[in-house]
Amino acid sequence: MPRPIHAVIHAQALRHNLARLRQASGDARIWAVVKANAYGHGLARAYESLRGADGFALLDVNEAQTLRDLGWRGPLLLLEGVFEQRDLERCSRLDLWHVVHHEGQIDMLSRHKTQVPQRVFLKMNSGMNRLGFAPQAFKSAWTRLNALPQVDEISLMTHFAHADGEPGVTAQLEVFAQHSSDLPGERSLANSAALLRHSPSDAVTADWVRPGIALYGSSPDHGVHDAAHWQLQPAMSLRSRLIAVQSLAAGDSVGYGGAFVADRDMRVGVVACGYADGYPRHAPTGTPVLVNGVRTRTLGRVSMDMLCVDLSRVPQAGIGDEVTLWGSAASGQVLCIDEVAAAAGTVGYELMCALAHRVPVSSE
Ligand SMILES: *Cc1c(COP(=O)(O)O)cnc(C)c1O
Repeated sequence: MPRPIHAVIHAQALRHNLARLRQASGDARIWAVVKANAYGHGLARAYESLRGADGFALLDVNEAQTLRDLGWRGPLLLLEGVFEQRDLERCSRLDLWHVVHHEGQIDMLSRHKTQVPQRVFLKMNSGMNRLGFAPQAFKSAWTRLNALPQVDEISLMTHFAHADGEPGVTAQLEVFAQHSSDLPGERSLANSAALLRHSPSDAVTADWVRPGIALYGSSPDHGVHDAAHWQLQPAMSLRSRLIAVQSLAAGDSVGYGGAFVADRDMRVGVVACGYADGYPRHAPTGTPVLVNGVRTRTLGRVSMDMLCVDLSRVPQAGIGDEVTLWGSAASGQVLCIDEVAAAAGTVGYELMCALAHRVPVSSE
């Protein structure tokens, strides 16, 4: 028998979340963001369930190739654009749309030999200060692009820095509108947080929305609203089993460094899951976990291949019993990945993306 840890990707949850976002998007079309191997869910697997999207947004030409090989003929968008000249040849061959966020990318386009002009999204830096043309330089970049025979339609985009909380999107919306309102073309602004928090605002949803995290069932503003509030379902469950049970006496400790010390006699379960599986090492004592669907807590330090859980609330639990690290238990109880992430001082995004290669993945 293989080591019992495994991840399950829930096709039905992906479809549900897409439908939920469709409902929030009004008339806007949806780029399903599938970068980072579909946030750790597996690109091919996610694609099967998200084919109802209007397009797929990703970072890597090879990932785009994978989606074409799987039969996707609709729009594909490279969110960071091209990195070198010859990427444009593959964009032509695969019919990719790509983001243009700096002058060098316009230079490359001007040297590109093609009979078929390309669709581009011109990106404005409206305050995130990561990618994009400064607002004052936006119009001249557009004018330069528009003059190139290599360029077909130009769409406009920006990305919000505070969509998940205060001060919100208003300031960036204003900057974007002020420096683009007289330009033609479709617009795309909203990630998951902006989409869910500002729906049904046409100014935010515009022509294309770009949800990622919400497709996978994690709340984009956990701490303010949880996934249940947004009616999202977890698309990934990380499950394993107890491989040992220890009985501690008051004063005994568990694991490296003896970081947890029992204050009474108690039973402790040892789970086949550690940081080499992608479970966060920083998760402290008290991080929520389900044993046979019953909510309990981790104890002591997470080690490479194992972690320990409190069995006080599950006295019948023994070796071989099911442990759900996040997602849903086989019996249906849910432990949101965001809760585990919050306990470990991170976000659901990081946990999903960090699922380790050694963890087998199946779909259901
Ligand atoms: C990753 C990404 C998104 C998706 O963001 P979520 O917070 O996962 O919804 C949208 N737009 C751009 C430009 C991105 O890089």
